[in-house]
Amino acid sequence: MSIYQIAIDGPSGSGKSTLAKGVSKELGIMYLDTGAMYRTCGLAAVKRGISPKDVDAVTRMLSEMKLEVRFIDGTQHMILDGEDVTGMIRTPEVSMAASDISTLPVIRSAMVDYQRKIASEQSFVIDGRDIASNVLPDAKYKFFLTASAEMRAKRRLAELNERGDFSQSYEEVLRDIELRDKQDSERAAAPLVCVPDAIVIDTSEIDIDQTREALLSHIDE
Ligand code: C5P
Repeated sequence: MSIYQIAIDGPSGSGKSTLAKGVSKELGIMYLDTGAMYRTCGLAAVKRGISPKDVDAVTRMLSEMKLEVRFIDGTQHMILDGEDVTGMIRTPEVSMAASDISTLPVIRSAMVDYQRKIASEQSFVIDGRDIASNVLPDAKYKFFLTASAEMRAKRRLAELNERGDFSQSYEEVLRDIELRDKQDSERAAAPLVCVPDAIVIDTSEIDIDQTREALLSHIDE
């Protein structure tokens, strides 16, 4: 069987990761979460106490740190300098640091190289912001997930609360999402764009099962 890639791009909170997980399970292929890679870069900056916007400090950090994506029992783990940090990259602080650091071309080019290497080895569902537009423009399947900012904030808050994190109000989550949207779509390096040949799925009014069915109806593997 030949290798194929399913790219899912979209703004934060549109449901990409839940969808990508479900689709990868259904198709029996792996799931690569590229946001986790930028989150790990953000965490590395937070841990070192450097600004994720400081190009010189981040460039130095990149040459010193060791970031590794490891698949353990079919699940992606993020390893930073030998430590499994998978459980540490979903905090609001790391989310903002990830959004900031991912605007730097030096970080993007290192992550994109790594993502292409990983994707060359087997079939993946890959989610992110620039997968179809930049990382894998030749991916066999391209999807763009959207939903209103309010709906995404509601979902993100539920997700945080489920994890026992009650540090943010709905208004704060919404503000963060709007800020990250702006940053993700206005940055110079690989901004969030919907490529013309992507299939757009708006998840505002449909649940996760309907979203998965909508996506799978386009896959003929
Ligand atoms: O998808 P997630 O919210 O986990 O991504 C964290 C941050 O990483 C996003 O705010 C976005 O700025 C960045 N990102 C990116 N390119 C990707 C995936 C994520 O710039 N392919």
